[in-house]
Amino acid sequence: MSRVYNFSAGPAVLPEEVLREAADEMLDYQGTGMSVMEMSHRSKAYETIIKEAEADLRELMNIPDNYKVLFLQGGAHQQFAMIPMNLMKNKVADYIVTGMWAKKAFAEAGKYGKVNKIATSEDETFSYIPDCSDLPISEDADYVYICENNTIYGTKFKTLPNTKGKDLVADVSSCFLSEPVDVSKYAVIYGGVQKNIGPAGVVIVIIREDLITEDVLPGTPTMLTYKTHADADSLYNTPPAYGIYICGKVFKWLKKQGGLAAMKEYNEKKAAILYNYLDESKMFKGTVRKEDRSLMNVPFVTGDADLDAKFVKEATAAGFTNLKGHRSVGGMRASIYNAMPIEGVEKLVEFMKKFEKENA
Ligand SMILES: *Cc1c(COP(=O)(O)O)cnc(C)c1O
Repeated sequence: MSRVYNFSAGPAVLPEEVLREAADEMLDYQGTGMSVMEMSHRSKAYETIIKEAEADLRELMNIPDNYKVLFLQGGAHQQFAMIPMNLMKNKVADYIVTGMWAKKAFAEAGKYGKVNKIATSEDETFSYIPDCSDLPISEDADYVYICENNTIYGTKFKTLPNTKGKDLVADVSSCFLSEPVDVSKYAVIYGGVQKNIGPAGVVIVIIREDLITEDVLPGTPTMLTYKTHADADSLYNTPPAYGIYICGKVFKWLKKQGGLAAMKEYNEKKAAILYNYLDESKMFKGTVRKEDRSLMNVPFVTGDADLDAKFVKEATAAGFTNLKGHRSVGGMRASIYNAMPIEGVEKLVEFMKKFEKENA
């Protein structure tokens, strides 16, 4: 068996320890004589799995009691619609558009009400986070929306926007559990887990209780109403059971690493190795304004598309995979999520230095 250093933006690297545990339990989960994949979601064993997953997530993020945790399906994309359908009481929302995912969420919400693009960084290929300290927040906005970490462009909000008292909704798909957060500053935090937590198929929504009501837009399907899932503790219909089980294992792994404060420290140390090299290299350059750099997704270029392609090809052959940048940015992108060990980044930088010398 040989594992590569997988720099994929998502689905992405998972902790090896978690994969080994899941392998051990594949045929017989803790004496039940069956795999979690074969188990009723209404069984005692599964009830324990989902309850523990929620409890561990609550502990990790210090989630206040007046917030519900929902394990849903449909990807982050489904939330682009579910959020306006459930929260647009006045049919008005303000969007800060800092990348492709926020742009898609903005377009989707436009199907349900009046959406205002109150700030954007599209003028410079989303390479920075706009100043959000004094934005023209709409008087009657139901919420203000951000994508907190921009997976494709590699930017991150280091301070949350001043929403002037309006509810803040954040897509945290690619920075989920990468550092401590103050949940009480948000109305809704959500993300697909396939970036920084678990396998594709699960979306976690953390939502303040008073926002969970029957007062949704007319025609909202039962399955797209938060209340349906909140009332049933995420077991209204068959949940993505195996995915939730793996997420639960990752939560326990994170607790063992020391929790989110320890992860933040580790992630900062890890990202600095790559950013420091990008800052001194004569060949490779980071594409993001320094103060807005993401700890999770690091895009970089040589400035020469042929050289980029050569680098990606040779890196792949050397065991550093999925480094090709998103098609809208080009160049390279290293996603260095929680489960990427520091050695992976150290060895990548060694490889980049060697490549730079050979191709100078
Ligand atoms: C990947 C990603 C999405 C899309 O996720 P799906 O689960 O494919 O719908 C949305 N937002 C962010 C920030 C992402 O990184």
